[in-house]
Amino acid sequence: YSTAAALEDPIKPPVTVEYDKLLINGRFVDAASGKTFKTLDPRTGEVIAHVAEGDAEDINRAVAAAREAFDVGPWPKMTAYERSKIMFRFADLVEKHNDEIAALESWDNGKPYEQSANIEIPKVVRIFRYYAGWADKIHGLTIPADGPHHVQTLHEPIGVAGQIVPWNFPLLLFAWKVGPALACGNTIVLKTAEQTPLSALLVSKLFHEAGLPPGVLNVVSGFGPTVGAALCSHMNVDKVAFTGSTETGKVIVELAAKSNLKPVTLELGGKSPFIVCEDADVDKAVELAHSALFFNQGQCCCAGSRTYVHEKVYDEFVEKAKARAMKRTVGDPFKSGTEQGPQIDAVQFKKILRYIRSGTESGANLEAGGDKLGTKGYYIQPTVFSNVKDDMLIAKEEIFGPVQSILKFKDLDEVIRRANNTQYGLAAGVFTQNLDTANTLMRALRAGTVWINCYDVFDAAIPFGGYKMSGNGREKGEYGLKNYLQVKAIVTTL
Ligand code: NAD
Repeated sequence: YSTAAALEDPIKPPVTVEYDKLLINGRFVDAASGKTFKTLDPRTGEVIAHVAEGDAEDINRAVAAAREAFDVGPWPKMTAYERSKIMFRFADLVEKHNDEIAALESWDNGKPYEQSANIEIPKVVRIFRYYAGWADKIHGLTIPADGPHHVQTLHEPIGVAGQIVPWNFPLLLFAWKVGPALACGNTIVLKTAEQTPLSALLVSKLFHEAGLPPGVLNVVSGFGPTVGAALCSHMNVDKVAFTGSTETGKVIVELAAKSNLKPVTLELGGKSPFIVCEDADVDKAVELAHSALFFNQGQCCCAGSRTYVHEKVYDEFVEKAKARAMKRTVGDPFKSGTEQGPQIDAVQFKKILRYIRSGTESGANLEAGGDKLGTKGYYIQPTVFSNVKDDMLIAKEEIFGPVQSILKFKDLDEVIRRANNTQYGLAAGVFTQNLDTANTLMRALRAGTVWINCYDVFDAAIPFGGYKMSGNGREKGEYGLKNYLQVKAIVTTL
């Protein structure tokens, strides 16, 4: 595997925020328990910072602040245009501090700095500008009714939104959740992932500098079963938005149902098919299938983790996919040219290595990689398996790591049936130059997104979400607003 060159002037991650505090009611405060936990550098396993460990008591405080901010103000008294201006100012501040925020994100998560700085943080800015633009364009309808009535609908904020994000895209998913919720006029209590609690604290500080009133956005760090569960079961939280595993999603729905029946939107796991047809441009398909799987160390909910290749181009594809994986630049995320950094933590690292072993043991051909890399941190070789069968664990379960599984198919009906034969339905990729084939597959695939001759296109305006056990509801785009609005019907006798 290639080794990346050192960045000429490596960016030192900043410590400009009190990471050992929670952000409640516009102030950095100690956790009620006084306890902290460690967040680790995935490059080395060493401690980066001690972070406040929130508990149910902190959730009570944060929800009370969010409730007060929603009911009393000044947030609900502001015009939509005023809210929009705060969001635009915040986006400007994030843009101004792009490199510093990107460094912190990469430090905590292990993702290549160039990916954070050139792709993810600019996307965070774009999402906030997109939703800032929506804030003053949300309106209801006038509806013709049978009787002598004038009927109109008001679109109102839902109230206090509880938001829970995972560690793989800490700030991007913060943006997907916070952007639409604020545009609609809600207030928020957000729980960060325990592996990556830092960047949300930094940008939330900037949000207050941009003029966000206290209590509108509260950030509580801590563990899922304590803080996360307390948020989901809180009687004064009006809605929960969750991104994470399907397993945790089930727990969250149960907690919401058992408390106040709050609506829950879910963005969960996936096992997305990437289908390479016989007429595809093989070189392009290889490159795209490679990035569809390996991007972000393979830690993407929508990773193209089942690469189905038509038998006519299968051998050529496998050779080229193997060569591409062997060329992948793995190394320190702070070095220029690094395509792949370490996995997030020891738990994921060991889990991925177990899946790799299971691939070999179940009879798949190991074409590339297959082991850890180096002696420090959580680096794994880009791994490619061919001759993968649908019933192997590596083809059925979400690995969440740099492991590509290549499967062979003969015809479209067969690949449609096999691609859909999963509990998940998050995304799918189709590579073909034939319009009829593209039309057939785009309709037949049971997934929330179908990318045709592209993959991982994530514009702010494009809705994203899952079919089946990949979730419910959509984030981003106009659809993303629906998660945070109530519809009130007003009927007036004429
Ligand atoms: P996870 O479910 O373990 O954790 C996600 C979040 O939920 C964390 O903040 C965690 O603290 C919290 N949590 C855990 N237990 C909880 C509980 N009992 N109550 C409330 N909150 C709880 O998932 P993860 O391993 O951190 O993230 C990876 C998963 O996220 C993968 O399955 C991936 O596919 C999915 N994901 C989905 C999307 C999407 O948009 N569909 C995006 C990114 C990640």
